[in-house]
This record gives sequence, C-alpha cells and structure tokens, in this order.
Amino acid sequence: MLSPLKLVRPTTVQEASLALMELGDKAKLYAGGAELLLLLRNRLVDAEVLIDLKKIDRLRRLDASNGALRVGACLTHHELAMNAAVRERAPSLALAESQVANIRVRNQGTLGGNLAFNDPHSDPGTVLLVHNASVTIGNAKGERRVVLDEFFVDMYATALEPGEVLLEVEIPSLPAGMSSGYLRLHRYQRPTLGVAAAARITEGIIDEARLAVGCIGPKAQRLTELEAKIRGVTLSDAKRILAEEKNYLRGLLQPVDDLLGSADYKLYMAGVMLGDTLEQACHAN
Ligand SMILES: Cc1cc2nc3c(=O)[nH]c(=O)nc-3n(C[C@H](O)[C@H](O)[C@H](O)COP(=O)(O)OP(=O)(O)OC[C@H]3O[C@@H](n4cnc5c(N)ncnc54)[C@H](O)[C@@H]3O)c2cc1C
Repeated sequence: MLSPLKLVRPTTVQEASLALMELGDKAKLYAGGAELLLLLRNRLVDAEVLIDLKKIDRLRRLDASNGALRVGACLTHHELAMNAAVRERAPSLALAESQVANIRVRNQGTLGGNLAFNDPHSDPGTVLLVHNASVTIGNAKGERRVVLDEFFVDMYATALEPGEVLLEVEIPSLPAGMSSGYLRLHRYQRPTLGVAAAARITEGIIDEARLAVGCIGPKAQRLTELEAKIRGVTLSDAKRILAEEKNYLRGLLQPVDDLLGSADYKLYMAGVMLGDTLEQACHAN
C-alpha cells in the first residue's frame, strides 16, 4: 500500500527546482511514475510529496529543426516510437522505444524518467550513445548541457545534482551515409542485453563505426576501442573481430552472473549481437 502523498504541479522548471530544494528528501520528481510508484510501493524510496513534471510545457516539446531532434524529458516511450520525425531521423531509437516493456509502460514511462533513473536494464540510452546525444539539465538558476556518456555515471547514478531537473535530450542526426541498428535480447520485460551500432560502408569497407552495449554492465557504454579496430576492414572481418573481443568487453562492462544468465553467456551474446547489429546498420541504407 502507498502512504498518502501530496502532489505539487509546477508549470515552470524554476518552480519545480525550488520545490525540490525546499522540500529536500521529502520530495521526489515524478514524470510517468512507472518506476517511482513501484519503488514507493515496495518501500525502496520514501516520499511525502511528488513534484509532477508533466505540466511544464518545455518538457513536453519535440523540436526537429536544425539537424537535431530536441526531445522534452516528459515525452513517453510510445510517443517517441510513433513520432514521424523520430522514425525518420533516428529510426533505431524509434525501434528501441517500441520494444520497451509493454504498451502500459510505454504509455506511462517517459524518456527523461528512463535516463534519470539509469536502470542498467534499459533500451533508449544505448541507442542515444551512438547518436552522440546530450542532455540539458536545469535548476532555478540556469541550465547546463552534459554529453550522455558523462550523464550516465554508474548504475542508478547520473550527473544530476540536488535540485536539478532533466529537461531535454538533444539527438544529432547521424553523419551523411551512416545508418544505425538496434537489437535486444530479453527473457523478461526488461532487456538482458541491448546493442546499438551506426556505420558507413564504402566499397565494401567500413569507414565509420559507432558501437554501444547496454544492460550487461552497470551502465550503457560506447565501445570506442572496438570502433577503431573495425574501421578500414570488411564487414565479415569486423564481425570476426567483434566476436573475439570478449576480454575487452569483460574489462569494460564487468558483467556478473545473475538470474538473466552467466557473465560468460552475456559476453558471448554481446560479441554475436554486435556483429549482427553492425550488419543491420551497414545494410540499412
Ligand atoms: C514492468 C516494467 C518493465 C520495464 N521494461 C523496460 C524495458 O524493456 N526497457 C526500458 O528501457 N525500460 C523499461 N522499464 C523502465 C521504464 O522505461 C521506466 O520505468 C520509465 O521510462 C521511467 O519513466 P517515468 O517517466 O515513469 O519515470 P518516473 O517513475 O516518474 O521516475 C523515475 C525516476 O526518475 C526521476 N525523474 C523522472 N523524470 C525526471 C526528470 N525529468 N529529471 C530528473 N529526474 C527525473 C524520478 O524522480 C525517479 O527517481 C520498465 C519498467 C517497468 C515497471
């Protein structure tokens, strides 16, 4: 059972941030509540006041001008999966969003809530990393921009400071000729493994590649060393290299044995799925 909660409904970021600072630990930001209400119900988090972000216009906007998508934090997974501009400019993000959980969670949960909570078993962050996405964070005094790679600090930990709200995610389009792919593996609703790739292949040779893996480590990560190794080789050589890099992946991602599988199984599947996702990206054009 949930204890009675007071709901505060600010209409500006400043009001939300001031409420958060004044109320301190008694208050929690609340977007879709998909995660937060579970935490409250299971007494993993305590709150007396919820600060509902959905009345703040800025957080509900999606702008697709100037070569980048700017997505307000309170857009839901379903809205992003169905949005024409997202499907055209970042099709792998639309695909990842369409695979989140089930239609109830997709209708309720927001992109901002997903990134701010930073559960390792998440989909969108992995794709956003290959787009070189960044986030805008704000409080009552101003705003700052943080690249997503630095926003994800650790499992359930982000660069958000007390009193700060995640406002917007900026998603640059991929460079000309590059396409992307996303694949996920799941036994339950949340993913066990998510792999994103973006690549450009010219006359059979990969001349640009970006790779990211999520879920099997504490946070989603870009694989920059592997990206460098597969530039200048054919797709079949790249797939062989990716399947052989288990030690690099083990060191970077630090997978553990758990109910979703052994660390060795997760690493094996990451190697295979990196190759498959790269192939998807190379053939998407
Ligand atoms: C059954 C189930 C299955 C799921 N499966 C998947 C899956 O397959 N893939 C996947 O990616 N995710 C999955 N999720 C996670 C889901 O996507 C997230 O729960 C959801 O996106 C969180 O968004 P929300 O708006 O509901 O956040 P809330 O629950 O409202 O908030 C979550 C946390 O983020 C904070 N917060 C929210 N918005 C902001 C903001 N703008 N700025 C700062 N802090 C903020 C809140 O204070 C809270 O700590 C699943 C969740 C459930 C319950």
